[in-house]
Amino acid sequence: MELPTNLLPALIDGVRPGVAIGADYQLGSGAAFEPLSPIDGELTSKCGAASPADVGAAVAAAHEAFLQWRTVPAPVRGQLVLRIGEMARRHKAELAKLITLEAGKIPSEAEGEVQEWIDVCDFAVGLSRQLYGLSIASERPEHQLIEQWHPLGVVGVISAFNFPNAVWAWNAMIALVCGDSIVWKPSEQTPLISLACHEMVVRAAATMPEAPAALSCVVNGGADVGAALAADKRVPLVSATGSTAMGRKVAVAVGQRLGRSLLELGGNNAMIVTPTADLDLAVRAIVFAAVGTAGQRCTSLRRLIVHSSIVDELTTRLEKAYKSLPIGDPTKEGVLVGPLVSEASFNNMQTSLAAAKLQGGEVLCGGDRVTDAVPAGGFYVTPALVRMPKQTEVMLDETFAPLTYIVTYDTLDEAMAIHNGVPQGLSSAIFTGDIREAGRFTGPAGSDCGIANVNIGTSGAEIGGAFGGEKDTGGGRESGSDSWKQYMRRTTTTVNYGAALPLAQGVKFDV
Ligand code: NAD
Repeated sequence: MELPTNLLPALIDGVRPGVAIGADYQLGSGAAFEPLSPIDGELTSKCGAASPADVGAAVAAAHEAFLQWRTVPAPVRGQLVLRIGEMARRHKAELAKLITLEAGKIPSEAEGEVQEWIDVCDFAVGLSRQLYGLSIASERPEHQLIEQWHPLGVVGVISAFNFPNAVWAWNAMIALVCGDSIVWKPSEQTPLISLACHEMVVRAAATMPEAPAALSCVVNGGADVGAALAADKRVPLVSATGSTAMGRKVAVAVGQRLGRSLLELGGNNAMIVTPTADLDLAVRAIVFAAVGTAGQRCTSLRRLIVHSSIVDELTTRLEKAYKSLPIGDPTKEGVLVGPLVSEASFNNMQTSLAAAKLQGGEVLCGGDRVTDAVPAGGFYVTPALVRMPKQTEVMLDETFAPLTYIVTYDTLDEAMAIHNGVPQGLSSAIFTGDIREAGRFTGPAGSDCGIANVNIGTSGAEIGGAFGGEKDTGGGRESGSDSWKQYMRRTTTTVNYGAALPLAQGVKFDV
């Protein structure tokens, strides 16, 4: 695939920059790395990496930029995000190509991801005029009690391979209108799309005298680079997206210095299919949620909890749909299921399948490596459906691949217990024609996830809602609704416009 070099910073000694501080691109003094494309296992780029000292320098520059940016009125900050959104619109197709190359997504899903960036820009521009605080009734005469939201500081963003553009955008676009600067540690799988996204911000900032370029910084590299960012006291908020194992480490590092962390971690998402479900809709929703992005979305469908009266019909229809799925090189027209990200990912799927069989599972279809008519170096797999006798140990973990377990239930109580009986709590769905079941599922004693859908699948959230989940998913919320509040600090201000000094709670202290 030809690289859209017009979006990328220039090579330094034949290597992509490992560090970007605004428009200042450097190789970085960490060990250079060589990510492989999931499509064919070929090298995508040789990329420089940051050292912990480089991370410190990027944070220092971003802090300086923040000191300037926080005094710019929020609606003017919104104008920067407006211009960034225009860049994303103009270059949508080229940016999507980089996502396909580095993450292996089919073009439609890659373009959908860039569209999320565009959408969140639109949202953030509107938000820049709506960073409202409250006016609260004071108990004292001639006093005003008000709440204000102020810029917070440098926001550290650590992102995962599977949404290499959108996760950063959800954080960075909101943080920018909130008056913050960003130091981004992208996945080591996706340095090119990260550099291209950053370059779009740099170009937009160059058109606005109010915007210092170092508002946006990138530090490429592995876990050590992310760990240095998490440990830096000058970063009041670290937003980390990835596995639960990573989140536990980041939470400790940030907590140790009493910083804030916003964690978006692994899911183990389920759908309950009840006897009144519209099975035509359910089959389409299940297939997209389970095999879209080759099962490598945090919201991918991992567990199907099906009423015993309809399980045979549903599984027959699913098996038929699975057998017709076009699997292969995502750059080829008509392909719906691209590669797994790596050999390790393929091996994880095989390990889970073997464990499922030992725990009484029957593989209904899929799970095999595809080698015909696909690039030799990629790991392509037929999506698997596994019928389980009950919810066993293997189903409690997230396997980041197109592997969906099916269990049955007889009462909704039983279904809810299975549904909530895993450590994670990201996304969930019920397919039902019964309003009582839908109400129960979405109500306080229903799904314990951050996302609870009715008659749509578990994946494919819109940016307008707050996104995230509970329990081992980390508790963070990003993107829409009032998620912006996490990127600001709240000040409670009392103004006395009278001639006396009454104390709260009627306390007397006259001198
Ligand atoms: P990962 O945990 O391997 O890596 C994620 C990021 O964390 C990378 O940038 C990595 O370099 C960094 N990292 C790893 N160890 C670190 C440490 N000790 N300190 C600081 N940074 C560290 O995850 P992945 O394989 O890239 O992505 C897949 C995982 O991400 C899945 O579990 C998926 O569910 C999850 N995910 C969650 C969401 C969500 O919004 N909840 C979204 C996308 C992906």
